[in-house]
Amino acid sequence: DRSPLILGIDLGTSGIRGALIDTQTRQPIAFYAVPLALPIRNANTSEQSPELWLEGFELLLRKIQNAQQTAFIEHIILDATSSTVCLVNADYQPVSMALMYDDKRATAEAQLIAKIAPRNSGAHGASSTLAKVMWLYENTPHSESFFVCHQIDFINVFLTGLPQITDANNALKMGFDPINMVWPDWISQLLPTITLPKVVLPGDFLGQIQPGLVEKYGFSSKTKVYAGTTDSIAAFLASGAHQLGDAVTSLGSTLALKLITEKPIFAPEYGIYSHRLKNQWLVGGASNTGGAVLLKHFDLEALIEHLKKIPERPQNTHLDYYPLLCQGERFPISDPCFQGNLDPIPDNPETFLLGLIEGLVSVEKLGYQRLTELGASPVTRIFTAGGGLKNRVWMTLRSQELSAPVLQSLHTEAAFGVTQLLEIQSFNDQT
Ligand code: ADP
Repeated sequence: DRSPLILGIDLGTSGIRGALIDTQTRQPIAFYAVPLALPIRNANTSEQSPELWLEGFELLLRKIQNAQQTAFIEHIILDATSSTVCLVNADYQPVSMALMYDDKRATAEAQLIAKIAPRNSGAHGASSTLAKVMWLYENTPHSESFFVCHQIDFINVFLTGLPQITDANNALKMGFDPINMVWPDWISQLLPTITLPKVVLPGDFLGQIQPGLVEKYGFSSKTKVYAGTTDSIAAFLASGAHQLGDAVTSLGSTLALKLITEKPIFAPEYGIYSHRLKNQWLVGGASNTGGAVLLKHFDLEALIEHLKKIPERPQNTHLDYYPLLCQGERFPISDPCFQGNLDPIPDNPETFLLGLIEGLVSVEKLGYQRLTELGASPVTRIFTAGGGLKNRVWMTLRSQELSAPVLQSLHTEAAFGVTQLLEIQSFNDQT
């Protein structure tokens, strides 16, 4: 007798990953991966064929079937790249290429959006879903009705056969208003004839799996499909963060902070907007500083060597750096002309490196202070993700300087993280 499984799927740009989670232990029992051909990229454009997602997804299902696991799966939930979008017809066949998250061709459309969308909207910028949909609408021959299809919708419709539903997280960059849970009226001024999908909350039940897939892949006919979320929210949830005050700092090439908070915050000048996460909100800010600054001044080998020479409890250098790769910062300081501070540079490379790391920690500290000032709930735990976990000095200084305990992430796989939406739901249902 086996406990039922949850299948979490992370539909990315370079690959699709699947995680099988045991519903009893809530732990992953297996991971699967299928690579995708990279998008075709030019100066401002980045496209991929939506059919590729389906091929890759079916390959993943085949792998799970070959491992004789499909019959035990009772729940399926996906995350996908935010703001990757295509147009489909009434039969959900693509009528355009997908414009990827990093496509920036829709500059003229972004200018139109800027004129009428409220400042707080997630639809601003040339890489927003709305700008891309407007561009696609203009540049696709019209012979039939079109529908907006986020990357996640394409696979969810394949699974359930139910078109025209999406989740509030993927809809944010299309201009959806997550506070009132409505499509605002101004969108129809920009896209008068398009039908927008119904929006549900991440983790909500979408539908049963299609009978055809039960037959083809050996799923149980009880298998349910749920509305998912974006890739970055799924990665956040993988860390183990799930309650009010839980935060995740990503120590990657850049420094990104996310925090679960009671009230939504929108501060476009800092690039801060809020995603709905059940009855709470996820806010985040991203700085231009981060681990890449260390690699600008030291190659990886030198970095590792110098880190070894820095003592366990080093004395503060008082260099007070704000390290930036180039001019301009968005969060926690909003100033496109900001130069940061890297002066003076000492002769001793370990002192310099320590000063840089102190600088990174003070930017992170200021980041959480800024979120609190803007109305976020107090930070109670800080999970950590990214390559900076390997930097002992960075981790030690963080645990000394930050105002909440610093923890390692439980997992890093978004395919695992997205399944936590179902856990959060059952938590709330019990209380
Ligand atoms: P990305 O955001 O590009 O995915 P990662 O999460 O891989 O980046 O983190 C990259 C950063 O991690 C680098 O800029 C570097 O500062 C740090 N890093 C990577 N490997 C090591 C290592 N072995 N030791 C110390 N720091 C490391």
